[in-house]
Amino acid sequence: MDLRKRTWAEISLDNIERNYRAIRATLPEGCKFLGVVKADAYGHGAVAVSRRLEDLGAEYLAVSCLDEAVELRDAGIKIPILILGHTPAQFVPELIRLGLTQTVTCEAKAIEYSREAASLGTPLKIHIKVDTGMSRLGFLTAGGHFDQGIQNIVSACRQEFLEPEGVYTHFAVADEEGEEARKCTLGQFGLFKKVIEGVESQGITFKIHHCANTGAVVNYKEMSMDMVRPGLLLYGFGDGGRLGVRPCMRLMTHVSTIKYIDAGLPVSYGGTYVTQRRTRMGVIPIGYADGLLRCLSGRCSFMTQSGPAPQRGRICMDMCMIDLTDLPDVNLESLIEIFGERQTAEDLANIAGTIPHELLCSVSKRVPRVYVD
Ligand SMILES: *Cc1c(COP(=O)(O)O)cnc(C)c1O
Repeated sequence: MDLRKRTWAEISLDNIERNYRAIRATLPEGCKFLGVVKADAYGHGAVAVSRRLEDLGAEYLAVSCLDEAVELRDAGIKIPILILGHTPAQFVPELIRLGLTQTVTCEAKAIEYSREAASLGTPLKIHIKVDTGMSRLGFLTAGGHFDQGIQNIVSACRQEFLEPEGVYTHFAVADEEGEEARKCTLGQFGLFKKVIEGVESQGITFKIHHCANTGAVVNYKEMSMDMVRPGLLLYGFGDGGRLGVRPCMRLMTHVSTIKYIDAGLPVSYGGTYVTQRRTRMGVIPIGYADGLLRCLSGRCSFMTQSGPAPQRGRICMDMCMIDLTDLPDVNLESLIEIFGERQTAEDLANIAGTIPHELLCSVSKRVPRVYVD
């Protein structure tokens, strides 16, 4: 089957490799690399990306949930995998059988996990997640929670059938510019170090301390610790041009229909766009069910071989319209780049008022991934 008959995403694993090497080159000696491959590797295909990272010598992978980890183990990925989110305790046998590392975010879960692991007589490998200011997952440790937080972490780590290998935290604003964001990130990092000190002074030691997401890898070298944990950066964004990472996905479609419509005619649902002149209108087979955000309707252009073609009217589920009046060279079957090289996912995300992460992982299952190297 020709995967390119409708709409497809070209993925460059060579660019993933380039980005991996560019990130590696900035890390201190001995610092481990954890590749975040959750959400199907931000839409790039978790199995393919993980295989490449494993071949390159990445020490760790991270996914969001058990099903994502199972997919990787089923595909033969052998390196350690950290589950960043929650796994119900009844799946502890599966975690152990597959050699997965589970995040533990509170004492109650530690107790449940250990009880399940005890019935198998094998310990479960865990990383402790510390909430230092993100107010999402993790042991509360800020302000008045500090002493109790330390006690709870120590108690979690002392559960008989848990093997605490690592401890980590997550930054809220490490990717943002400005003094306020800097203060906030330094504050989170300082608290994280104090928590580690407090826990380790009670005889518990972690082999791997980690905190650096993309923002911290780029902006705060001193926060690499034992391992870094970039996601977006690996896929080519978020370095502000400093590391020279490159996008790895190009979302492509083609012109499937062209028609000439008179001036004054409404286009697409709601008739929100009305033609200003006789218009050469192209229909392209990509819509919001493919991951093209509907909020971009009428606000963006897509790239043709002869320049940008303005998108007209509302984006539908399976298709949308582009104005080819000023692009006479663009014909049936001409290729259209939604995002990629000439317009990056970040450019389009800015127009949509969102972040490139969302555009990349919105590219849906219906869109085949074509590995182009
Ligand atoms: C998603 C995620 C990351 C990666 O974040 P990026 O900003 O894409 O680098 C790192 N750590 C945790 C806990 C995450 O959930």
